[in-house]
Amino acid sequence: MLTYRKPQHLFLLLLFAAILVASCSPKVTNPKPKQGSVKSPIVKGPHFTTDSIYTTKTDSLLNIARLQQPVMLFDSTGIIAVPSEWVGTVNFGMRKANYVIIHYTAQDSVQQTIKTFIMASTQVSAHYVVGKDGKVFHMVNDYLRSNHAGVGKWGSVTDMNSCSLGIEIDNNGFEPFTDMQIKSLLALLTQLKKTYNIPTANFIGHQDFAPRRKPDPGPMFPWKLLADHGFGYRSDMIVVPAPDNFDYKTALRLIGYDTSDLNAAIIAFKRHFVQDDSTVQLSPLDLNVLYNVYQKY
Ligand SMILES: [Zn+2]
Repeated sequence: MLTYRKPQHLFLLLLFAAILVASCSPKVTNPKPKQGSVKSPIVKGPHFTTDSIYTTKTDSLLNIARLQQPVMLFDSTGIIAVPSEWVGTVNFGMRKANYVIIHYTAQDSVQQTIKTFIMASTQVSAHYVVGKDGKVFHMVNDYLRSNHAGVGKWGSVTDMNSCSLGIEIDNNGFEPFTDMQIKSLLALLTQLKKTYNIPTANFIGHQDFAPRRKPDPGPMFPWKLLADHGFGYRSDMIVVPAPDNFDYKTALRLIGYDTSDLNAAIIAFKRHFVQDDSTVQLSPLDLNVLYNVYQKY
C-alpha cells in the first residue's frame, strides 16, 4: 500500500532530482568504466525520461560503490584522528535481499501505480508491480533499495527496505486477487526464492511489518496457497490446542511481530494466518493457530 504526498510540478521535480543526483556524485579514485559496460540499452519508449533518470541515478550509486577511501574516525576527544588506510579486498559481492514484502496497491489500476512510482514527488516505489492480467512490471533492480516498506519492525529488522524486495499487487483493497496475477506472483516468488535463497519464513505482508500503519495485502490475499508453495508459513490442518497458560504475546513476538501495540499485532496476525475476522479478540481457534504457527519459527 502506497503512502505519498500529493504530486505537483512533475517536470520541475524530475529536473531537480536529476540535477541533485548529478551534483551529489562523489569523485572516484579509479577510472570510470567503459561506456556501455554497465548500462543496459534504453529504448526510447513512453518512459524514456524517467528511464534516463534511472540510469543517471544508478551511475551515481555505482560511483559511490567504487569509492576507495578509508573510513575517517576520531578518538573520544573528537580531535585526534584514528589511523586508517584503504586496502581493497578482492573478495566481495552484491548484498542480496533476504525478505519479500507483499503489498496491495490500494489504487484503481496498474497504470495509476506505475505513474505513482515514476513521479519523484511521491518518493515511493517497489521492485515489482503485478497487474490484474498477470503482467509483471520490474521497476527497480533487485540489488537496489526501493521505498516500499517504510517505518515498521519485524523481529529485529527495522530498515526493511534495505534487506527486502517489495512486490505491489494491483488491487484496490476491496476486491479479490485475480488468478492471473497470483499465477504470475507464484512464478516471480519461485525465481526470487531460488535466486536469493530467501528463507520460507521471510515472505510476509506489509501489515505484518507495519501493523500500526498498514492493512495490506489484506484478508483476501491467498496466504495459504503461497505457504503451500513454500512462501511463508501457515498453520497445519490439525492443530494441538494451545495450553491454558499459553503466552500469546511472546509467541507473536517470536514470529516477528512488533508487540509494542499488542492489538495491532493481533489484528495483523489474524489477517495473515487466520483470515476469519479482523477483531482484536483471540478466539480459541485463533490461539490454537498461533500456538501451531509460532512453533514453526
Ligand atoms: Zn503496502
